[in-house]
Amino acid sequence: MQRLWGRKLNDLAFAEFLQILKWVAKKKDKTVHFISRWYPSSKTCSNCQHVLDSLDLSVRSWRCPNCSKLNDRDQNASENILSVGASTLGLGDVRLAMPAISA
Ligand SMILES: [Zn+2]
Repeated sequence: MQRLWGRKLNDLAFAEFLQILKWVAKKKDKTVHFISRWYPSSKTCSNCQHVLDSLDLSVRSWRCPNCSKLNDRDQNASENILSVGASTLGLGDVRLAMPAISA
């Protein structure tokens, strides 16, 4: 079935995931907020907002030519998505919660 329907099946599974995510968020009185799928979250430096012209998918970390910060691709993208999502909700500058340290 996957071979016959391919991407269509994956799109349906993702749409179902989003429905479940919205349902759980509503049940727990949380907000699900979407940003533009075209926002360059991986290519934008989360420190200075410099945007690279291109970034190959195989590059997992890169150093910003503007501020010299070493950006892990996924961590950098998550910080940018949080920042953009918070700003479009009117929450302003949102800081990440400090991770709990257990001994
Ligand atoms: Zn930078």
